[in-house]
Amino acid sequence: MTRTVIAGNWKMNKTSAEAVELAREIRDGLVDGTVEVVICPAAVALTGVREALAGTSVKVGAQNMHSEESGAFTGEISPLMLQGLCEYVILGHSERRLLFGETSETVNRKVQAAIEHGLFPILCVGETLEERENGQANGVVGRQIEEGLRGVVDIPGLVVAYEPVWAIGAGQAATPEIAQEIMGGVIEQTLTAQFGAPGADIPLLYGGSVNPGNVTGYLSQPSVNGALVGGASLDADQFLEIVRLAGTRP
Ligand code: PEP
Repeated sequence: MTRTVIAGNWKMNKTSAEAVELAREIRDGLVDGTVEVVICPAAVALTGVREALAGTSVKVGAQNMHSEESGAFTGEISPLMLQGLCEYVILGHSERRLLFGETSETVNRKVQAAIEHGLFPILCVGETLEERENGQANGVVGRQIEEGLRGVVDIPGLVVAYEPVWAIGAGQAATPEIAQEIMGGVIEQTLTAQFGAPGADIPLLYGGSVNPGNVTGYLSQPSVNGALVGGASLDADQFLEIVRLAGTRP
């Protein structure tokens, strides 16, 4: 069975000291189970959070990465720099695409670089409200996956997150049925078209205003293997409850 993954995206929140504190709260409250838990703090907090989680099964993820190993890219962080600090890296988050002009081509270079350096990409895809209202959701999401994964053959560790842009940080989550329609439709089809049967084992996460009250609805859908959680991952109790509920997934 495809593994269940709950990933927390802390975005640009928490100082390093606060991040370590939150990681410790999560560590201390976590009951080991079948759920793979991933915490993605800001880059400056990766070392501290990693140390706080040492000896636990919790994985650490970065929120972004440059595709080059080194060079004149002021302010950027390379895959070499992340090696040893984290297992995962979120790539193509809609905030990166919309606020920082990342294209699917850029995302594709980053995905390839992550895989080459032994980092597991969490590739984010999702349509805007306007695209949904214009009936373009399937086309947009399918293209983001095709273009983001172009040339990729080696998929162990790859995770795909469907995050409709209109549901992120909005308190207006997509219904579980909408998540299933896209994830069990265009996302699964595009992944199996590219990777064959192994494509069906890639964990698919829903993201967008997930909280303890709605996570079970998503995880009850056959194509949803976990969640990428923003706001609710900043509160240890809420995040731990989401992980606990995910552990009861049939
Ligand atoms: C996210 O940005 O990855 C996200 C899912 O945020 P939120 O849960 O706050 O909508």
